[in-house]
Amino acid sequence: MRITDDIIYKVYDILGAEALKTFQENYELVNIIEGSTIPNDLISPERRVCRFCQKRHPDTSFQKKAHIIPHQLGSEHLVSDFECDKCNEVFGLYESQLANFLSVFRTMHKIKGKKKIPEFVSGGNTLHAKVGGFHNLRNIISVSDKNGFELDLDSGIIRKRYEQPPYKPLQVFKALAHIGFCMLNEDEVEDFRDYIHLGLMNGSKDQNCKNYPAFTLFVTRLPRVQSSTFALLFKKNNDRLIADYELIIFCRNLMFQLSLPLHKNGNERHRDFVRHILPGGHFIGDDFESQTPVSAIDLSDIELKKEEGYFEFRLDPEYVSKISKLSEDEQKEHSSIRKIFISSMDAVLRVPPENDLNS
Ligand SMILES: [Zn+2]
Repeated sequence: MRITDDIIYKVYDILGAEALKTFQENYELVNIIEGSTIPNDLISPERRVCRFCQKRHPDTSFQKKAHIIPHQLGSEHLVSDFECDKCNEVFGLYESQLANFLSVFRTMHKIKGKKKIPEFVSGGNTLHAKVGGFHNLRNIISVSDKNGFELDLDSGIIRKRYEQPPYKPLQVFKALAHIGFCMLNEDEVEDFRDYIHLGLMNGSKDQNCKNYPAFTLFVTRLPRVQSSTFALLFKKNNDRLIADYELIIFCRNLMFQLSLPLHKNGNERHRDFVRHILPGGHFIGDDFESQTPVSAIDLSDIELKKEEGYFEFRLDPEYVSKISKLSEDEQKEHSSIRKIFISSMDAVLRVPPENDLNS
């Protein structure tokens, strides 16, 4: 799929080619933003109008930096000039739910919060993940668990289940949809006025969203990690029973897809309403092939949701096969793990000799 004259989107998995074709037949790209862009033509606070509450100076204020992509998704610079401080505060609440939803992901991908990379503590206080130093190494991730980790010698994988911080699904949805509403032009925003007023901002119609497929988030796991966060907004080019806009957000090794719901001419209430998914892909131009698993997460609920999360580490197969050859007792010793450190491939650990440690 051609994104611009020189950017082409290629799917990782050949099975995705058909889905890409369908998506491309139904949608047109209308906007791309990148989180590290520094905007240079913002209008002065006195002349601003808030696109969410429609108030203007001096009925509301525009002092705060209104990020279009939240810092929870690793964006620092891109801000808007059409979001007032009061609405910004509301989105801030939604974004704290997004942080809970993202769980350990932000620590594992070193996504800075307002000040530093957040430390992750699971429910029940069992799993801890943080970024810090270890001997000569700096800025490495450490993960520990009260109950330790078990290495499965057959697969070479360490798997760990943990309790995620609970989150409010519909608020997570709103934190992400906010990005899309910022990407529309002014006329297009008006087509969503009812939803923005009664759903997005004051929540009085939130109950009505339950079980609508328009509030399903698709999360695709990519085989590669992107260093910048960016978003693409697609608009449908026909009058089929599909979402009017689909928003795709790329953040590290994840790709999020959500629709902008309840357009004034929307079809969400129709029983034949469907969503088209953009399959996992990349813009780099190489021929790397991999499967890209997708999960569909219903975010239509207003009630707090508690979930179990899990992560996996695959250990160096050479190391695993060495352990497999040891005696049973030695195997046990080598496969029960207290703490895991993750560093870059080229890092070299230098541990001081024991007498240095004692001095
Ligand atoms: Zn406002």
